[in-house]
Amino acid sequence: MVGTVTISIEIELGWGIHDRQQYDHLSDDGRVERRCLYRLLDACDDYGIPISFDIVGHLLLHSCEGTHSGPYPDGWFDEDPGTDMESDPLFYAPDIAAEIMRRRTDHEICTHTFSHAVCDTMPPDVQKQELEHAQRLHERVTGNQTESLVPPRHVCPSLDALNDHGIEIVRVQDDEPASNPVHRFRELLFGPPLVRSPEFSDGPVETYCTRHPNLTAPSLPSGRSPPHSAFRWVPIRMGQRLHERYLRTATELAVERDSHLHLWCHLFDLNREYQLPPIESFLETLGELEREGAIDVETMKGLNEQIRSETTSEPEPEEQIYA
Ligand SMILES: [Zn+2]
Ligand SMILES: [Zn+2]
Repeated sequence: MVGTVTISIEIELGWGIHDRQQYDHLSDDGRVERRCLYRLLDACDDYGIPISFDIVGHLLLHSCEGTHSGPYPDGWFDEDPGTDMESDPLFYAPDIAAEIMRRRTDHEICTHTFSHAVCDTMPPDVQKQELEHAQRLHERVTGNQTESLVPPRHVCPSLDALNDHGIEIVRVQDDEPASNPVHRFRELLFGPPLVRSPEFSDGPVETYCTRHPNLTAPSLPSGRSPPHSAFRWVPIRMGQRLHERYLRTATELAVERDSHLHLWCHLFDLNREYQLPPIESFLETLGELEREGAIDVETMKGLNEQIRSETTSEPEPEEQIYA
């Protein structure tokens, strides 16, 4: 049996919660987040693990005027500084995309829309505009449009918008809210993790993930923020061990069920002291499992190709002959 594992990381920096003017979760100049990313990229190179980095399209710009064409609601770009990468590295980050592309591991740079527009609050023409701007920048920066989308806050654009802009695979949140906070707490700490094969009918391929980030641990400080108060009693080392176990169990489950595990987090969830050590050790394990043939590690792009080729190569049902 072979399981498949996909890892996606949202790179949004200042754009993640700009609609609520929230930046406390970030460093002032994005340097801390960049350092975390580079260390993660080192581990990926060491163990041969590719990741889908879904980036907010605006971060691919070196500079801008502070406003962008399209039928956006009034004030949508109020937080756009209208400067450049040197002045506002939380709003412009072409250096990040360049660094990911420079690495020897074949990572994917895919999209998280152009300006982190949450689709259920936006009219359909804004959803299309977001993908149009993003695709144009992807083509300019990476040489190709992307077929993979991670929609902000798990809210998917319309099928029309996806089809019109060449999106072939989307990450979709699958887990139901827990029946009560105690169940939620247990689930986040101990699992069981969500393992589910991607599905594909006439729209894009859907790859399923949990509502909360699960590449990083809820019981450990997330970036610059302390863990949720429910987890503050968990000692750091115990939180790390529990998370290592969560990641290992999730992977074993994917192998056992011949299924798929999609792990994700935001770039700002990572931090060097607490979150990265268990992730690095997990990437090492993944590399070993892949060499043994137990696991395939696929980016969303790779997963899309795999699912579509399996679907088209399925044998036709044999014709029944009735005497
Ligand atoms: Zn701008
Ligand atoms: Zn996001």
